[in-house]
Amino acid sequence: MLMSHSDWSFLKLPEIALVLLKTVFVEEDSMFKAILLTKTDGEFSARVADIDDTELTEGDVSVRVEYSTINYKDGLAIANKAPIVRKWPMVAGIDGAGVVEQSSHPRWKKGDGVILNGWGVGETHWGCLAQKAKLKGEWLVPLPAAFTTKQAMAIGTAGYTAMLCVLALEKHGVTPDKGEVLVTGASGGVGSVAIAILAGRGYTVTASTGRLHEADYLKELGASSVIDRRELSSPGSPIAKEQWAGAVDAVGSHTLANVCARLKYRGAVAACGLAQGLDFPASVAPFILRGITLVGIDSVMCPMESRLDAWQRLAKDLDPAKLDKITSVISLSEAIAKAHDILAGKVRGRLAVDVNG
Ligand code: NDP
Repeated sequence: MLMSHSDWSFLKLPEIALVLLKTVFVEEDSMFKAILLTKTDGEFSARVADIDDTELTEGDVSVRVEYSTINYKDGLAIANKAPIVRKWPMVAGIDGAGVVEQSSHPRWKKGDGVILNGWGVGETHWGCLAQKAKLKGEWLVPLPAAFTTKQAMAIGTAGYTAMLCVLALEKHGVTPDKGEVLVTGASGGVGSVAIAILAGRGYTVTASTGRLHEADYLKELGASSVIDRRELSSPGSPIAKEQWAGAVDAVGSHTLANVCARLKYRGAVAACGLAQGLDFPASVAPFILRGITLVGIDSVMCPMESRLDAWQRLAKDLDPAKLDKITSVISLSEAIAKAHDILAGKVRGRLAVDVNG
C-alpha cells in the first residue's frame, strides 16, 4: 500500500528508496503477461493481459515459463474456431517449458527444468502462453539434457506427437527395409518433425504437401520425394495400388482414407490429425484384404511412460540442425496473429514463443 505524503517525513533517504524499491519490485513480480481468452455475454476476446499470480488456477508446481508454442489446437482456441476452451476466462497455451520456482510435489524442486504437453492445460486449466503457470507435478516431464527450453517448445506437442506416431509405426513392424513411408501435412509442425525423425532413422520418406514451393525445405529435412496433396484429398477407390509401407497422417478425411487404400500388405498408418477434416470416409477393404493397421494417436492424455519414452527418443533421434530449420521464434505479442496464420495453413514448421520476448 502507498503511504501519504506526510508519512515520508519519518524516513531517511535510503529508507525511502528501499520502500519504493520493495513496492515496485514486489508488485511487478506478482504480475505476469499471458494470452487471456474471455467470453462475456457470448462475446469472445483474445488479448495479451497483465495478470496477478494470485489468480492462477490450482497446481502443486509453480513454473516460470520461458517458452511456449503455437500448435494447431492453440490456433483453434485463440481464434475461437472450435470448442477447445471449456472454462472462462482461460489462459491459452497447451504447451510450456520452463523452470520450477516452487513445488510441493515430491518429484520436483526449485530449479528443475520441466516440459508440459496437454493434459487439458489451455482448455480447462490455465495454460502456458504466459510467463507463469501453476501445474500438477504428475503432468510434468523433465527437460531432457539434450534440449534447451526453446528447443523443447520448438518440438512442442506437434513434435512429440510426431514421435508418438513414429513409435507406433515401429511397434507395428514398419521398419526402413519395408519400403517407403508417407507423411501428410508435410510442411506443418507434425509433418516437418516426422520427416526429420524418419529420415534420420533411415526411412525413405515421401512428403505430401499443398505447398509444392516448399519442396526444397522438405528435402532438406530428409524427404526423398514430394507429392501434391491433391493426389490424396478427393474421394478415391476403396482399395488401390500398394504404395507405402507406413504413414504418418496429420490430415484425416479423404486423405486418410486414400492412404489406407494405398498401404502395402500389413502396412500401418498413425493417424493424429484432422487438418482436412474430422470425417473418415473409408472402406474396410484394405483392413480385411491387406491386414493394414490404423493406429490412433492421442498426445493429450497419453500415459507418462509413453511421454518419457517419446521425449527420450526425440533427444536421440531428432537432429538439432534440422530442428533449427523447422523453427521460427516469435514473441508473446505476435502469438495471436500467428494463431490465425496456422489455421490458414500459412505457418511452415514450428513456432516457438518466447514469452518474455
Ligand atoms: P499445422 O497447421 O502446423 O500443420 C497442418 C498441415 O496440414 C498444414 O501445414 C498443411 O500442410 C496441411 N493442411 C492444412 N489444411 C489442409 C487441408 N484442407 N487439406 C489437406 N492438408 C491440409 O498443424 P500441426 O502439424 O500442429 O497439427 C497437424 C494436425 O494434427 C492438426 O489437425 C492437429 O489438430 C493434429 N494434432 C493432433 C494431436 C493429437 O494428439 N492427436 C497432437 C498435435 C496435433 P501442407 O501445407 O504441407 O499441405
